[in-house]
Amino acid sequence: MMTFETRKDLFHLPEGMIYLDGNSLGPLPKAAAARVMRTLQDEWGEMVITGWNRAGWMAQPMALGDRIGRLIGAEPGHVTLGDTLSIKVFQALAAALAMTDRTVILSDSGNFPSDLYIAQGLIAALGRGLELRVVAPEAVADQITDDVAVMMLTQVDCRTWRLHDMAHLTARAQTKGVLTVWDLAHSAGAMDVDMAGCGADFAVGCTYKYLNGGPGAPAFIYVAPRHAQTARPVLAGWLGHDAPFAFEQSYRPGDGVARMRVGTPPGIQMAALDAAMDIWDGVDMAALRAASVALTERFIAGVEAACPDLALASPRDPAQRGSQVSFRHPEGYAMMQACIAAGVVGDFRAPDILRFGFTPLFIDADYVDRAVAIIAGVMRDRLWDDPAFAAKAAVT
Ligand SMILES: *Cc1c(COP(=O)(O)O)cnc(C)c1O
Repeated sequence: MMTFETRKDLFHLPEGMIYLDGNSLGPLPKAAAARVMRTLQDEWGEMVITGWNRAGWMAQPMALGDRIGRLIGAEPGHVTLGDTLSIKVFQALAAALAMTDRTVILSDSGNFPSDLYIAQGLIAALGRGLELRVVAPEAVADQITDDVAVMMLTQVDCRTWRLHDMAHLTARAQTKGVLTVWDLAHSAGAMDVDMAGCGADFAVGCTYKYLNGGPGAPAFIYVAPRHAQTARPVLAGWLGHDAPFAFEQSYRPGDGVARMRVGTPPGIQMAALDAAMDIWDGVDMAALRAASVALTERFIAGVEAACPDLALASPRDPAQRGSQVSFRHPEGYAMMQACIAAGVVGDFRAPDILRFGFTPLFIDADYVDRAVAIIAGVMRDRLWDDPAFAAKAAVT
């Protein structure tokens, strides 16, 4: 296995801030600023509408899809980009439901709210006796039964960071004729993923977390090659049409995963993402995963030694944990605000979870040690026990 070296020099990391929230919003790649400026001035500014061809804006969703595809082990040409992750969850789930007469959507209580809401909305719109069955993450394997239409899971639980065994659950689903939709929001860029190898049907994910594409960067969708020419996109937009500029009256799906495109791609956002993806060139994902495990192990050991009041909410076994660590405490919200004020940025999720993300592209052991020392000080001196830290902001 290749060794892993951090690429922190390629990121702008704010002075005086230890950033452990790259799992929610990746930091700014230094090259992104110049790339976006070039897109604004040389492309949009000078080319105006000809930029769609001359600057390659129209080809970017498939080109960037392939760059992301390498990180998730997808076959080339089977990932495309656009919209937000919630929309891509809708498309994948709707396409899967159209392939079966079964009625149960199986998911787990660790899934992200939007994924569950999208399923609820689809059920209300489609009727036909559909049902969302939400079980505990540990119970999913036993609930993969003959009546399940689609198993829709986020690989890494966004509160505890418990990691599903994607290969095992997908294989089990296949033996029961269950279609699979994997949300890789906290996997893509965080660990090695093997979409082609595990044989899943659909996968989706976002690019503003571990991939550092910036706030609101477009999401991605993968459709397994065996479904690429038959999957129905449901959100049938003109850019997913076989001939968008023929302006035909009726929708004809485009070639393969390109049919999952909906409307006009976000050119400026894609420029930032393209610059962010340059950082991934040559990164060995297994080596990155090993580095991530070493960081989360180090953080857990440090925090547990210094802060006995914080209870580990993540699996202790690193093989069952994503690239993040959560602790629980009833005063977690105020504690996180105090940590942020002291220079360590993580985030909080109700009711009592303090979340910290470890993104090896820019985090190393020294960074972890500095974070632990600051968190230890906040806890030891009860800096969080201040009314100023109890007031909740809109984004926690
Ligand atoms: C971050 C995240 C989302 C967010 O969806 P958007 O449409 O990009 O806001 C959805 N699902 C999961 C699992 C996530 O982690």
